[in-house]
Amino acid sequence: MSPSGFEPTIFSRIIAREIPATIVAETEQIIAFVDIAPKAPVHVVITTKDPQYQNVVELAAGNPALLAELVAVAERIAAERTNGQFRLVFNTGAAAGQTVFHVHAHLLGSPEPTDSLG
Ligand code: 5GP
Repeated sequence: MSPSGFEPTIFSRIIAREIPATIVAETEQIIAFVDIAPKAPVHVVITTKDPQYQNVVELAAGNPALLAELVAVAERIAAERTNGQFRLVFNTGAAAGQTVFHVHAHLLGSPEPTDSLG
């Protein structure tokens, strides 16, 4: 357990630079890095540095401005790295595929023109 009372996840170790990641964007409160197991030509994880929110529902209720900032960071990354069409996915709950319980979005897209993002 961390001093703040939240169980650190693998993302906290990336934020602390304890394990390497390809970081593509960072603000005071948000960090984004390339997913280690990409599901699309562009697959970036965007997360809060604060580990207290486990999922997007908690973040929306607890700090909606931070959720808006996360989405704005996603849009900037998409503008730089994709063809402008992208998916923003928040897996919420283990049965929905969530494996890291530290709120994050998956930005999925392609730099090339595509008919479908799957
Ligand atoms: P979730 O399944 O919780 O929605 O998403 C967690 C994501 O984190 C997965 O897509 C997984 O590939 C990614 N991930 C897990 N561990 C690491 C890691 O050590 N480094 C990076 N870059 N991504 C990770």
